[in-house]
Amino acid sequence: MQPFVYDGLPSRVVFGQGTLAQLRQELEHLGCSRALVLATPQQQEQASRVLELLGDKGVGVYADAVMHTPVEVTKRALQVVKELNVDCTVAIGGGSTIGLGKAIALRTGLPQIAIPTTYAGSEMTPILGETSDGIKTTQRTLDVLPETVIYDVDLTLTLPAVMSGTSGINAIAHAVEALYARDCNPVIALMAEEGIAALARSLPVIANNPTNVEARSDALYGAWLCGTCLGSVGMSLHHKLCHTLGGSFNLPHAETHTIVLPYALAYNAPAVTEAMARIGRALGCDDAAAGLYDLGRAVGAPSALSELGFSVDDVERATEIATRNPYWNPRDVEAKGIHRLLSDAQSGKRPQ
Ligand code: NAD
Repeated sequence: MQPFVYDGLPSRVVFGQGTLAQLRQELEHLGCSRALVLATPQQQEQASRVLELLGDKGVGVYADAVMHTPVEVTKRALQVVKELNVDCTVAIGGGSTIGLGKAIALRTGLPQIAIPTTYAGSEMTPILGETSDGIKTTQRTLDVLPETVIYDVDLTLTLPAVMSGTSGINAIAHAVEALYARDCNPVIALMAEEGIAALARSLPVIANNPTNVEARSDALYGAWLCGTCLGSVGMSLHHKLCHTLGGSFNLPHAETHTIVLPYALAYNAPAVTEAMARIGRALGCDDAAAGLYDLGRAVGAPSALSELGFSVDDVERATEIATRNPYWNPRDVEAKGIHRLLSDAQSGKRPQ
C-alpha cells in the first residue's frame, strides 16, 4: 500500500468546440457583469471579438500582457481595473496572459475566467510567477486559481505548428515530473499518463496539419490533464532547470522545456523506474527519454539549447545557479551530473 493525500482544486472547466459562445453564461454564473478582457498585443484582435461577444457585460480590453508577468505591466492593468470599475477578468491567450489575470486576482480578489489558447497549463494551477527588477519569483496560493476555465478547441487552430509542438511538450513535462513527485497520488498519476498519451499521439498530427480538429481536441484535453498535474503536485529537477534557463539566460519558455525534458528524465531515470515504465507506455516506446527526444523531432522543435543562443560557456554558470539552492528531487542533484546534462542539452545529442 502507498499512502497518499489528495487535494482537489476548486475550478470549473468547460471543454468543447465552440464553447466560447458560453462566455456570457459563465460570467453570469460567477455573478459578474463588468468584465475586462486581457490579451497579449498579438491577440488584441481576438480579445476585441471576445469583448463584442460579452456585449453589455464587457467594459474593455487590456492587451499588454507579456511573458513572465512583469509587475509594472500588472500595475498599469490595475489602474485600468479601477478606472473601469471592473468586477471580473477574462484572459484569452497562453500562460503570459493568464499570468496577468492571476496577478490582478492576487491584488484585488477579482474572479477570473481563463480561456487558454496554448497548452502551457497555467489556467489549472494556483501558481503565479512574476518578475520585478529582472528577478522572477513564484508563489502558490489558491487566490490566483481561475474560477472558470473555458477550453475551446477552435481557438487553438491558429497556434502555429512548431509552437503547438513545443507548447504541448511543455505540458508533457508537467505530467512527467508529476509521475515521480514526492506528493503524487493515484488520481494525478492516472491523469498524467493519460495526458502524456493524448499529447504524444496528437502533436505529430498537428505538426503536419495544424487545423486537424480531432488532433487539436486530443491535445487540448491532454493539456488540461497535464495542467492539473502541475497545479496539484510538486515539480523537481526539470522545472528547476528550465526556471534557471528562462530566468537567468532569458531562454524562451516552451522551447527550453522541450529541449531539456529528455535529458532531465534520463538523469532521474535510475531513481524512478515505475514512472519510466508509465511514461514509456504513454509514449508507446521502451525508452521514455529517447521517446521524448524523438517526439521533439517529430514536431519540428529545436533539438539543442545552442539553437536558442545558449553557449558552451554558459553551461558552467547554469550548473552553478541550478545547484545553488537545494530542493527535493528523486535523484541527488550533484554538480557533475547536472553539468553533463546541460552540456548534452546544449549540443542536442541523443540522451543516453
Ligand atoms: P505565451 O502566453 O507567452 O504565448 C506565446 C505567444 O503565442 C504570444 O504572442 C501569444 O499571444 C501567442 N499565442 C497564444 N495562443 C495563440 C494562438 N492560439 N494562436 C496564435 N498565437 C497565439 O506562451 P505560453 O507558453 O502559453 O506561456 C508562457 C508563460 O506562461 C511563461 O511566462 C511561463 O512561466 C508561464 N506559465 C505559468 C504557469 C503557471 O502555472 N503559473 C504554467 C505554464 C506557463
